[in-house]
Amino acid sequence: MSTTRRTFVASGTLMAAAALTAGPAWTQALPFVSESDPPAAALAFHSEASTIDKQKFPQYAVGQSCSACAFYEGKPETTDGTCQMYSGKRVQSNAWCAAFFKRP
Ligand code: SF4
Repeated sequence: MSTTRRTFVASGTLMAAAALTAGPAWTQALPFVSESDPPAAALAFHSEASTIDKQKFPQYAVGQSCSACAFYEGKPETTDGTCQMYSGKRVQSNAWCAAFFKRP
């Protein structure tokens, strides 16, 4: 395999992997929920669940994140998706808010 073909195959593999782990294409145009957005702040939204202070937010339990939540509209294996609680925005799969409800 020539270097050019090898480079093409490698870049194609990387692009395919990126497409599989990101949310659907139409959601990529949506802004992420910000922790300072009033609706998000009211629900203690955290863009990274692992940074949550369990003393301040005792309702949070290790292992809870958007990817495990019933309101998350992305596939569990994607890095982001939409949430029924925040219309017109997307959330990181490892985010969390107080509306978390375990996916059945
Ligand atoms: S409701 Fe669920 S999916 Fe939406 S931000 Fe909160 S934890 Fe994430």
